[in-house]
Amino acid sequence: MPEETSAGQDKSEALQQKVDMLNRLVEISLVMNSTFQLDALLEYLMYQATEITNSESASILLLDDKTGDLRFAAALGDVAEELVGMIVPRQGSIAGSIIDQEQAMIIDDVDQDPRHFDDIDQKLDYDTRSILGMPMAIRDRLVGVLEVLNRREGRYNEDDIRYITLLASQAAVAIDNVQMVESLEHAYDDLEKVNKLKTDFIAIASHELRTPLGVILGYATVLRDDAQGESGEHIEAVLSSALQMRTLIEGMTNLRYVQLDESELKFEKAWLNDILQEAINDVQSMVEAKGQIFELEEPPEAIMIEVDRAKFVLALTNVLNNAIKFTPPGGVILLTAVRRNKEVWVQVRDNGIGIPADDLEHIFEQFYQVEDPMTRKHGGLGLGLTIARTVLDRHKGRIWADSPGPDEGSCFTLVLPLPPGMIVNEMEVPKNHQKKARESA
Ligand code: ADP
Repeated sequence: MPEETSAGQDKSEALQQKVDMLNRLVEISLVMNSTFQLDALLEYLMYQATEITNSESASILLLDDKTGDLRFAAALGDVAEELVGMIVPRQGSIAGSIIDQEQAMIIDDVDQDPRHFDDIDQKLDYDTRSILGMPMAIRDRLVGVLEVLNRREGRYNEDDIRYITLLASQAAVAIDNVQMVESLEHAYDDLEKVNKLKTDFIAIASHELRTPLGVILGYATVLRDDAQGESGEHIEAVLSSALQMRTLIEGMTNLRYVQLDESELKFEKAWLNDILQEAINDVQSMVEAKGQIFELEEPPEAIMIEVDRAKFVLALTNVLNNAIKFTPPGGVILLTAVRRNKEVWVQVRDNGIGIPADDLEHIFEQFYQVEDPMTRKHGGLGLGLTIARTVLDRHKGRIWADSPGPDEGSCFTLVLPLPPGMIVNEMEVPKNHQKKARESA
Protein backbone atom coordinates (compact mmCIF):
# COMPACT_ATOMS: atom_id res chain seq x y z
CA MET A 1 0.00 0.00 0.00
CA PRO A 2 1.46 3.40 -0.89
CA GLU A 3 2.48 5.47 2.15
CA GLU A 4 0.13 8.37 1.32
CA THR A 5 -2.96 6.15 1.23
CA SER A 6 -2.14 4.55 4.58
CA ALA A 7 -1.61 8.00 6.17
CA GLY A 8 -4.98 9.08 4.76
CA GLN A 9 -6.63 5.97 6.19
CA ASP A 10 -5.11 6.64 9.63
CA LYS A 11 -6.46 10.17 9.52
CA SER A 12 -9.95 9.10 8.58
CA GLU A 13 -9.92 6.40 11.30
CA ALA A 14 -8.84 8.96 13.89
CA LEU A 15 -11.60 11.28 12.66
CA GLN A 16 -14.16 8.48 12.85
CA GLN A 17 -13.05 7.75 16.44
CA LYS A 18 -13.54 11.41 17.34
CA VAL A 19 -17.03 11.44 15.80
CA ASP A 20 -17.92 8.23 17.71
CA MET A 21 -16.67 9.79 20.91
CA LEU A 22 -18.67 12.97 20.33
CA ASN A 23 -21.78 10.90 19.68
CA ARG A 24 -21.15 9.03 22.88
CA LEU A 25 -20.75 12.26 24.86
CA VAL A 26 -24.01 13.64 23.42
CA GLU A 27 -25.74 10.40 24.42
CA ILE A 28 -24.33 10.69 27.94
CA SER A 29 -25.66 14.23 28.26
CA LEU A 30 -29.10 13.09 27.12
CA VAL A 31 -29.16 10.30 29.70
CA MET A 32 -27.89 12.69 32.39
CA ASN A 33 -30.76 15.06 31.75
CA SER A 34 -33.41 12.38 31.81
CA THR A 35 -33.30 11.31 35.45
CA PHE A 36 -32.89 12.78 38.92
CA GLN A 37 -31.76 9.58 40.63
CA LEU A 38 -28.29 10.48 41.82
CA ASP A 39 -26.99 6.96 42.51
CA ALA A 40 -28.01 5.70 39.08
CA LEU A 41 -26.58 8.79 37.37
CA LEU A 42 -23.23 8.58 39.09
CA GLU A 43 -22.94 4.87 38.39
CA TYR A 44 -23.71 5.48 34.72
CA LEU A 45 -21.13 8.28 34.55
CA MET A 46 -18.42 6.24 36.19
CA TYR A 47 -19.14 3.32 33.86
CA GLN A 48 -18.82 5.63 30.84
CA ALA A 49 -15.62 7.11 32.29
CA THR A 50 -14.00 3.66 32.55
CA GLU A 51 -15.13 2.68 29.04
CA ILE A 52 -13.90 5.89 27.44
CA THR A 53 -10.52 5.83 29.18
CA ASN A 54 -10.08 2.06 29.01
CA SER A 55 -9.85 1.89 32.81
CA GLU A 56 -10.61 -0.88 35.29
CA SER A 57 -12.62 1.20 37.70
CA ALA A 58 -13.81 4.66 38.76
CA SER A 59 -14.89 6.45 41.90
CA ILE A 60 -16.24 9.80 43.08
CA LEU A 61 -15.05 11.50 46.25
CA LEU A 62 -16.88 14.47 47.75
CA LEU A 63 -15.55 17.09 50.13
CA ASP A 64 -17.00 16.94 53.61
CA ASP A 65 -18.31 20.43 54.44
CA LYS A 66 -17.29 20.20 58.09
CA THR A 67 -13.94 18.36 58.20
CA GLY A 68 -12.72 19.29 54.70
CA ASP A 69 -11.69 15.64 54.16
CA LEU A 70 -12.78 13.61 51.13
CA ARG A 71 -15.34 10.85 51.39
CA PHE A 72 -16.10 8.19 48.75
CA ALA A 73 -19.62 8.94 47.51
CA ALA A 74 -19.78 6.38 44.69
CA ALA A 75 -17.62 3.68 43.10
CA LEU A 76 -17.83 0.93 40.51
CA GLY A 77 -17.48 -2.80 40.93
CA ASP A 78 -17.41 -5.29 43.79
CA VAL A 79 -15.61 -3.01 46.22
CA ALA A 80 -18.17 -0.21 45.83
CA GLU A 81 -20.32 -1.13 48.79
CA GLU A 82 -17.39 -1.19 51.21
CA LEU A 83 -15.65 1.81 49.69
CA VAL A 84 -18.58 4.25 49.86
CA GLY A 85 -18.33 6.26 53.08
CA MET A 86 -14.58 5.71 53.56
CA ILE A 87 -12.56 8.84 54.23
CA VAL A 88 -9.35 10.01 52.55
CA PRO A 89 -7.53 12.86 54.33
CA ARG A 90 -7.31 16.01 52.24
CA GLN A 91 -3.88 16.78 53.55
CA GLY A 92 -1.15 14.84 51.75
CA SER A 93 -3.39 12.59 49.61
CA ILE A 94 -3.61 12.41 45.79
CA ALA A 95 -7.30 13.38 45.78
CA GLY A 96 -6.50 16.25 48.21
CA SER A 97 -3.76 17.52 45.85
CA ILE A 98 -6.16 17.42 42.89
CA ILE A 99 -8.59 19.59 44.87
CA ASP A 100 -5.89 21.96 46.15
CA GLN A 101 -4.25 22.41 42.73
CA GLU A 102 -7.64 22.64 41.03
CA GLN A 103 -6.47 20.64 38.02
CA ALA A 104 -6.42 17.17 36.51
CA MET A 105 -3.62 14.88 37.62
CA ILE A 106 -2.20 11.71 36.10
CA ILE A 107 -0.26 9.29 38.32
CA ASP A 108 1.25 6.54 36.16
CA ASP A 109 2.81 4.59 38.99
CA VAL A 110 0.84 4.97 42.16
CA ASP A 111 3.25 2.78 44.20
CA GLN A 112 5.98 5.37 43.65
CA ASP A 113 3.81 8.27 44.86
CA PRO A 114 4.13 8.95 48.60
CA ARG A 115 0.71 10.69 48.58
CA HIS A 116 -1.08 7.45 47.78
CA PHE A 117 -3.38 6.62 50.71
CA ASP A 118 -2.62 2.92 50.85
CA ASP A 119 -4.93 2.12 53.81
CA ILE A 120 -7.94 1.71 51.54
CA ASP A 121 -6.19 -0.60 49.06
CA GLN A 122 -5.13 -2.76 51.98
CA LYS A 123 -8.56 -2.84 53.56
CA LEU A 124 -10.24 -3.77 50.28
CA ASP A 125 -7.45 -5.99 49.03
CA TYR A 126 -7.25 -3.85 45.87
CA ASP A 127 -4.22 -2.88 43.84
CA THR A 128 -4.32 0.67 42.52
CA ARG A 129 -1.62 1.08 39.85
CA SER A 130 -2.48 4.26 37.93
CA ILE A 131 -4.91 7.16 38.48
CA LEU A 132 -6.40 9.96 36.42
CA GLY A 133 -8.17 12.37 38.76
CA MET A 134 -10.24 15.44 37.90
CA PRO A 135 -11.60 18.09 40.28
CA MET A 136 -15.37 18.65 40.20
CA ALA A 137 -16.75 22.15 40.68
CA ILE A 138 -20.25 23.56 41.02
CA ARG A 139 -20.39 27.24 40.08
CA ASP A 140 -16.72 27.85 41.02
CA ARG A 141 -17.06 25.88 44.27
CA LEU A 142 -14.95 22.72 44.41
CA VAL A 143 -17.04 19.80 45.58
CA GLY A 144 -14.95 16.68 44.96
CA VAL A 145 -12.93 14.53 42.60
CA LEU A 146 -13.75 12.04 39.84
CA GLU A 147 -11.08 9.35 39.50
CA VAL A 148 -10.54 6.59 36.95
CA LEU A 149 -8.13 3.83 37.95
CA ASN A 150 -5.77 1.33 36.34
CA ARG A 151 -5.64 2.01 32.61
CA ARG A 152 -5.71 -1.38 30.93
CA GLU A 153 -3.26 -0.45 28.14
CA GLY A 154 -0.77 2.38 27.85
CA ARG A 155 -0.81 5.54 29.92
CA TYR A 156 -3.49 8.13 30.61
CA ASN A 157 -3.18 10.92 28.03
CA GLU A 158 -4.48 14.35 27.02
CA ASP A 159 -7.54 12.86 25.28
CA ASP A 160 -8.49 11.02 28.48
CA ILE A 161 -8.21 14.31 30.39
CA ARG A 162 -10.48 16.05 27.89
CA TYR A 163 -13.21 13.43 28.16
CA ILE A 164 -13.00 13.12 31.91
CA THR A 165 -13.27 16.92 32.20
CA LEU A 166 -16.65 16.72 30.49
CA LEU A 167 -17.85 13.80 32.59
CA ALA A 168 -16.69 15.46 35.83
CA SER A 169 -18.71 18.57 35.02
CA GLN A 170 -21.77 16.43 34.25
CA ALA A 171 -21.36 14.64 37.60
CA ALA A 172 -21.07 18.01 39.36
CA VAL A 173 -24.32 19.24 37.79
CA ALA A 174 -26.12 16.03 38.78
CA ILE A 175 -24.87 16.32 42.37
CA ASP A 176 -25.79 20.00 42.49
CA ASN A 177 -29.34 19.33 41.27
CA VAL A 178 -29.93 16.65 43.85
CA GLN A 179 -28.40 18.75 46.64
CA MET A 180 -30.62 21.67 45.67
CA VAL A 181 -33.74 19.50 45.73
CA GLU A 182 -32.67 18.09 49.11
CA SER A 183 -32.05 21.50 50.62
CA LEU A 184 -35.40 22.74 49.32
CA GLU A 185 -37.09 19.73 50.90
CA HIS A 186 -35.33 20.46 54.21
CA ALA A 187 -36.32 24.11 54.07
CA TYR A 188 -39.91 23.10 53.37
CA ASP A 189 -39.93 20.64 56.29
CA ASP A 190 -38.50 23.33 58.59
CA LEU A 191 -41.17 25.78 57.49
CA GLU A 192 -43.89 23.23 58.16
CA LYS A 193 -42.47 22.61 61.64
CA VAL A 194 -42.29 26.30 62.48
CA ASN A 195 -45.80 26.81 61.16
CA LYS A 196 -47.11 23.98 63.29
CA LEU A 197 -45.31 25.33 66.37
CA LYS A 198 -46.94 28.71 65.81
CA THR A 199 -50.40 27.23 65.33
CA ASP A 200 -50.02 25.00 68.40
CA PHE A 201 -48.81 27.93 70.47
CA ILE A 202 -51.77 30.09 69.48
CA ALA A 203 -54.18 27.23 70.17
CA ILE A 204 -52.73 26.66 73.65
CA ALA A 205 -52.48 30.36 74.49
CA SER A 206 -56.05 31.08 73.41
CA HIS A 207 -57.33 28.11 75.36
CA GLU A 208 -55.47 29.23 78.49
CA LEU A 209 -56.76 32.81 78.16
CA ARG A 210 -60.38 31.70 78.14
CA THR A 211 -60.56 30.66 81.79
CA PRO A 212 -59.32 33.92 83.40
CA LEU A 213 -61.38 35.90 80.93
CA GLY A 214 -64.47 33.97 81.97
CA VAL A 215 -63.78 35.02 85.56
CA ILE A 216 -63.36 38.70 84.55
CA LEU A 217 -66.59 38.65 82.55
CA GLY A 218 -68.48 36.91 85.36
CA TYR A 219 -67.43 39.35 88.11
CA ALA A 220 -67.78 42.40 85.87
CA THR A 221 -71.37 41.41 85.10
CA VAL A 222 -72.16 40.98 88.81
CA LEU A 223 -70.47 44.30 89.67
CA ARG A 224 -72.32 46.13 86.88
CA ASP A 225 -75.64 45.10 88.36
CA ASP A 226 -74.71 46.65 91.73
CA ALA A 227 -72.71 49.62 90.50
CA GLN A 228 -74.06 53.17 90.34
CA GLY A 229 -72.92 56.47 88.88
CA GLU A 230 -69.35 56.80 87.66
CA SER A 231 -68.24 53.37 88.79
CA GLY A 232 -71.07 51.92 86.70
CA GLU A 233 -69.50 53.51 83.60
CA HIS A 234 -66.09 52.10 84.57
CA ILE A 235 -67.49 48.61 84.95
CA GLU A 236 -69.29 49.00 81.62
CA ALA A 237 -65.94 49.84 79.97
CA VAL A 238 -64.30 46.78 81.57
CA LEU A 239 -67.13 44.59 80.37
CA SER A 240 -67.07 45.88 76.81
CA SER A 241 -63.28 45.42 76.56
CA ALA A 242 -63.54 41.93 78.00
CA LEU A 243 -66.22 41.08 75.42
CA GLN A 244 -63.95 42.38 72.65
CA MET A 245 -61.18 40.21 74.01
CA ARG A 246 -63.49 37.20 73.97
CA THR A 247 -64.19 37.74 70.26
CA LEU A 248 -60.45 37.88 69.57
CA ILE A 249 -59.79 34.74 71.57
CA GLU A 250 -62.59 32.91 69.76
CA GLY A 251 -60.91 33.92 66.50
CA MET A 252 -57.61 32.51 67.76
CA THR A 253 -59.28 29.29 68.82
CA ASN A 254 -60.66 28.96 65.31
CA LEU A 255 -57.10 28.85 63.97
CA ARG A 256 -57.35 25.07 64.32
CA TYR A 257 -59.68 25.15 61.31
CA VAL A 258 -56.74 26.27 59.16
CA GLN A 259 -55.35 22.75 59.49
CA LEU A 260 -58.75 21.19 58.98
CA ASP A 261 -58.61 17.78 57.41
CA GLU A 262 -61.35 16.62 55.07
CA SER A 263 -61.91 13.57 57.27
CA GLU A 264 -62.94 15.90 60.12
CA LEU A 265 -65.93 17.20 58.18
CA LYS A 266 -69.36 15.95 59.13
CA PHE A 267 -71.38 16.24 55.93
CA GLU A 268 -75.13 16.53 56.14
CA LYS A 269 -77.90 17.51 53.76
CA ALA A 270 -79.37 20.94 54.39
CA TRP A 271 -81.55 23.55 52.66
CA LEU A 272 -79.35 26.34 51.41
CA ASN A 273 -81.90 28.94 52.60
CA ASP A 274 -81.68 27.63 56.16
CA ILE A 275 -77.91 27.85 56.10
CA LEU A 276 -78.04 31.44 54.83
CA GLN A 277 -80.51 32.32 57.57
CA GLU A 278 -78.31 30.75 60.23
CA ALA A 279 -75.35 32.90 59.14
CA ILE A 280 -77.59 36.00 59.01
CA ASN A 281 -78.77 35.35 62.57
CA ASP A 282 -75.13 35.31 63.69
CA VAL A 283 -74.42 38.78 62.31
CA GLN A 284 -77.79 40.50 62.67
CA SER A 285 -76.94 42.40 65.86
CA MET A 286 -73.76 43.80 64.26
CA VAL A 287 -75.73 45.08 61.25
CA GLU A 288 -78.22 46.75 63.55
CA ALA A 289 -75.49 48.26 65.71
CA LYS A 290 -73.90 49.89 62.62
CA GLY A 291 -77.20 51.03 61.17
CA GLN A 292 -76.53 49.24 57.89
CA ILE A 293 -79.02 47.93 55.36
CA PHE A 294 -78.97 44.18 54.85
CA GLU A 295 -80.56 42.64 51.76
CA LEU A 296 -81.04 38.98 50.96
CA GLU A 297 -81.78 37.62 47.49
CA GLU A 298 -82.63 33.97 47.81
CA PRO A 299 -82.56 31.60 44.82
CA PRO A 300 -85.90 31.12 43.03
CA GLU A 301 -85.75 27.40 43.75
CA ALA A 302 -85.01 25.62 47.00
CA ILE A 303 -81.61 24.03 46.85
CA MET A 304 -80.48 21.10 48.91
CA ILE A 305 -76.74 21.14 49.60
CA GLU A 306 -74.44 18.72 51.37
CA VAL A 307 -72.09 20.47 53.80
CA ASP A 308 -70.50 20.38 57.21
CA ARG A 309 -73.15 22.75 58.48
CA ALA A 310 -71.27 24.39 61.37
CA LYS A 311 -68.09 24.90 59.35
CA PHE A 312 -69.80 26.25 56.25
CA VAL A 313 -71.83 28.66 58.40
CA LEU A 314 -68.56 29.74 60.07
CA ALA A 315 -67.00 30.44 56.65
CA LEU A 316 -70.00 32.47 55.50
CA THR A 317 -70.24 34.31 58.83
CA ASN A 318 -66.56 35.30 58.56
CA VAL A 319 -67.20 36.84 55.14
CA LEU A 320 -70.38 38.60 56.35
CA ASN A 321 -68.59 39.91 59.45
CA ASN A 322 -65.92 41.45 57.22
CA ALA A 323 -68.51 43.04 54.93
CA ILE A 324 -70.11 44.66 57.99
CA LYS A 325 -66.79 45.60 59.59
CA PHE A 326 -65.29 47.19 56.46
CA THR A 327 -68.44 49.08 55.44
CA PRO A 328 -69.25 52.41 57.12
CA PRO A 329 -72.49 52.95 59.07
CA GLY A 330 -75.48 53.28 56.75
CA GLY A 331 -73.80 51.12 54.08
CA VAL A 332 -75.45 48.23 52.24
CA ILE A 333 -74.64 44.53 52.53
CA LEU A 334 -76.19 42.24 49.93
CA LEU A 335 -76.27 38.45 50.25
CA THR A 336 -77.29 36.52 47.13
CA ALA A 337 -77.40 32.84 46.23
CA VAL A 338 -78.00 31.24 42.85
CA ARG A 339 -77.56 27.87 41.25
CA ARG A 340 -75.21 27.79 38.26
CA ASN A 341 -75.21 24.42 36.55
CA LYS A 342 -73.87 21.95 39.09
CA GLU A 343 -72.73 24.58 41.56
CA VAL A 344 -74.25 27.01 43.98
CA TRP A 345 -72.78 30.52 44.10
CA VAL A 346 -73.21 32.52 47.30
CA GLN A 347 -72.09 36.15 47.04
CA VAL A 348 -71.58 38.79 49.72
CA ARG A 349 -71.42 42.29 48.29
CA ASP A 350 -70.80 45.50 50.20
CA ASN A 351 -70.26 49.17 49.39
CA GLY A 352 -67.50 49.62 51.93
CA ILE A 353 -63.78 50.49 51.82
CA GLY A 354 -62.98 48.03 49.00
CA ILE A 355 -59.74 46.11 48.43
CA PRO A 356 -56.71 47.15 46.31
CA ALA A 357 -56.20 44.78 43.32
CA ASP A 358 -52.77 43.63 44.60
CA ASP A 359 -54.29 42.41 47.87
CA LEU A 360 -57.21 40.42 46.47
CA GLU A 361 -55.37 37.07 46.73
CA HIS A 362 -53.17 37.89 49.75
CA ILE A 363 -56.13 38.52 52.03
CA PHE A 364 -56.71 34.76 52.13
CA GLU A 365 -53.26 34.20 53.67
CA GLN A 366 -52.92 33.67 57.41
CA PHE A 367 -52.73 36.95 59.40
CA TYR A 368 -52.73 39.09 56.25
CA GLN A 369 -54.49 42.41 56.59
CA VAL A 370 -54.60 45.23 54.07
CA GLU A 371 -54.33 47.91 56.72
CA ASP A 372 -50.97 48.75 58.28
CA PRO A 373 -50.90 46.91 61.64
CA MET A 374 -49.61 50.01 63.46
CA THR A 375 -52.28 52.40 62.27
CA ARG A 376 -55.24 50.18 61.42
CA LYS A 377 -58.72 51.22 62.40
CA HIS A 378 -60.43 47.84 62.24
CA GLY A 379 -59.95 45.00 64.73
CA GLY A 380 -59.34 41.36 63.86
CA LEU A 381 -56.59 38.78 63.60
CA GLY A 382 -56.43 38.25 59.85
CA LEU A 383 -57.67 34.66 60.08
CA GLY A 384 -61.32 34.82 59.01
CA LEU A 385 -60.70 34.47 55.27
CA THR A 386 -57.97 31.84 55.70
CA ILE A 387 -60.48 29.73 57.61
CA ALA A 388 -63.18 30.43 55.01
CA ARG A 389 -60.87 29.31 52.20
CA THR A 390 -59.84 26.15 54.06
CA VAL A 391 -63.48 25.25 54.70
CA LEU A 392 -64.42 25.83 51.03
CA ASP A 393 -61.38 23.85 49.84
CA ARG A 394 -62.35 20.89 52.01
CA HIS A 395 -65.83 21.03 50.46
CA LYS A 396 -64.18 20.95 47.00
CA GLY A 397 -65.50 24.48 46.51
CA ARG A 398 -63.85 27.85 45.88
CA ILE A 399 -63.81 31.34 47.36
CA TRP A 400 -62.39 34.54 45.93
CA ALA A 401 -62.72 38.30 46.23
CA ASP A 402 -63.40 41.02 43.66
CA SER A 403 -63.25 44.74 44.17
CA PRO A 404 -63.16 47.67 41.74
CA GLY A 405 -60.67 49.27 44.18
CA PRO A 406 -60.43 51.35 47.39
CA ASP A 407 -63.76 52.87 48.49
CA GLU A 408 -65.60 51.01 45.73
CA GLY A 409 -66.88 48.08 47.81
CA SER A 410 -66.06 44.37 47.59
CA CYS A 411 -67.70 41.16 46.51
CA PHE A 412 -66.84 37.73 47.92
CA THR A 413 -67.96 34.64 46.01
CA LEU A 414 -68.29 31.24 47.70
CA VAL A 415 -68.87 28.34 45.32
CA LEU A 416 -70.05 24.90 46.44
CA PRO A 417 -70.39 21.91 44.15
CA LEU A 418 -73.86 20.38 44.16
CA PRO A 419 -74.03 16.63 44.54
CA PRO A 420 -75.97 15.05 41.63
CA GLY A 421 -79.73 14.86 42.17
CA MET A 422 -79.69 17.39 45.00
CA ILE A 423 -81.71 20.11 43.32
CA VAL A 424 -85.38 20.27 44.16
CA ASN A 425 -87.70 22.17 41.87
CA GLU A 426 -90.36 24.58 43.03
CA MET A 427 -93.19 22.01 43.01
CA GLU A 428 -91.49 19.92 45.66
CA VAL A 429 -90.31 22.76 47.84
CA PRO A 430 -91.66 22.70 51.38
CA LYS A 431 -93.96 25.66 52.08
CA ASN A 432 -91.65 27.69 54.28
CA HIS A 433 -89.00 27.64 51.55
CA GLN A 434 -91.18 29.06 48.80
CA LYS A 435 -90.75 32.70 49.73
CA LYS A 436 -88.65 34.20 47.01
CA ALA A 437 -86.85 36.77 49.05
CA ARG A 438 -86.75 37.45 52.67
CA GLU A 439 -85.94 40.85 54.09
CA SER A 440 -83.69 40.51 57.02
CA ALA A 441 -81.89 42.57 59.60
P1 ADP B 1 -59.57 40.18 59.69
O1 ADP B 1 -60.92 40.61 59.22
O2 ADP B 1 -59.61 39.60 61.06
O3 ADP B 1 -58.53 41.23 59.55
P2 ADP B 1 -59.72 38.32 57.47
O4 ADP B 1 -58.87 37.16 57.11
O5 ADP B 1 -61.16 38.03 57.65
O6 ADP B 1 -59.10 38.97 58.77
O7 ADP B 1 -59.54 39.42 56.34
C1 ADP B 1 -58.25 39.79 55.94
C2 ADP B 1 -58.22 41.20 55.41
O8 ADP B 1 -58.94 41.28 54.19
C3 ADP B 1 -58.86 42.23 56.30
O9 ADP B 1 -58.00 42.65 57.33
C4 ADP B 1 -59.14 43.34 55.30
O10 ADP B 1 -57.97 44.09 55.07
C5 ADP B 1 -59.48 42.58 54.03
N1 ADP B 1 -60.95 42.43 53.85
C6 ADP B 1 -61.68 41.33 54.08
N2 ADP B 1 -62.98 41.53 53.77
C7 ADP B 1 -63.08 42.80 53.34
C8 ADP B 1 -64.15 43.62 52.87
N3 ADP B 1 -65.40 43.15 52.78
N4 ADP B 1 -63.87 44.88 52.50
C9 ADP B 1 -62.60 45.36 52.57
N5 ADP B 1 -61.55 44.64 53.00
C10 ADP B 1 -61.78 43.38 53.39
